[in-house]
Amino acid sequence: METSGHPTGSYVDQLLRNIHALVIGDNSGELASYIPGLANADPDQFGVAIATANGKLYSFGNVDAKFTIQSISKALTYCLVLEIKGRRDVFARVGVEPSGDPFNAIEFDPRTSRPYNPMVNAGAITVAGILRDELGRDAFDFILTRFSEAAGRPLELNEEVYLSEARTGHRNRAIGHLLLGMGALSDRCEDAVDLYFRQCSIDVDTLSLATIGATLANLGENPFTGKQVFDVSAVRDTLAVMFTCGMYDYAGNWAFDVGVPAKSGVGGGILGIVNRQLGIGTYSPRLDRNGNSVRGLTAFKALSDELGLHAFDPT
Ligand code: GLU
Repeated sequence: METSGHPTGSYVDQLLRNIHALVIGDNSGELASYIPGLANADPDQFGVAIATANGKLYSFGNVDAKFTIQSISKALTYCLVLEIKGRRDVFARVGVEPSGDPFNAIEFDPRTSRPYNPMVNAGAITVAGILRDELGRDAFDFILTRFSEAAGRPLELNEEVYLSEARTGHRNRAIGHLLLGMGALSDRCEDAVDLYFRQCSIDVDTLSLATIGATLANLGENPFTGKQVFDVSAVRDTLAVMFTCGMYDYAGNWAFDVGVPAKSGVGGGILGIVNRQLGIGTYSPRLDRNGNSVRGLTAFKALSDELGLHAFDPT
């Protein structure tokens, strides 16, 4: 097994080893199967990493294993669009209300005709459309650069996953065209959907996720490189939406049990943030029926209990 340890014997290192032991026997859940790039993942892998807002990194398990960021990208592009377009303009086009619908639902808020929030596909595709309109053909490079700066290492597009997403993403194209029909996207809706497929197909690993989390926890500054990656006020708004909408149809349960802003993706990753303190990444590709990593959920619950991470913990 590919492992990575840090100050051996420390309390956190031991905790991560215990978490690994806790989850590793759980083989429940299924790999995402809608494209080969996801269906071929090694189902047994598990990695967990914690990066602190003052630049310490702890990890255990398959923390260098690559997987695509998928829906976790939605939180980061939302943070970027808030910076580029401004909070008011973005809010006029994408709401911040949990929907209770599946992530790929073709549903809009009937009161406003906007996508419910940026964590469902309709909202994320609208965000991609705004970025595409603002940045033109450079939009993907911009996203990749910022994600890489947040991760503290160069990230790359997984071409195979991107091509499969593009080949099979008819439902997302339908959402794009519906958004165009409603006037929520410009006539470049195909480009918006293409940008969305690309952003979902960026390869990350568990260490990158934890570092991205630490960057968000540290008010947008990567604590390892000192680079200011995200706008401070955009980070606040992003964490708020992650807290209420980040975990598919499990967001309410997650807020109840774990109590930190988070976002998961069907690649098997979960990104969690403890504001001003920690970024946490987990990876394990078997998913429950909501699309969340089974072992990742267990790991986050255990970490939250053990470290007292819940936002409303009394201590
Ligand atoms: N590329 C995926 C889709 O929109 C993202 C899925 C996810 O991680 O929720 O179908």
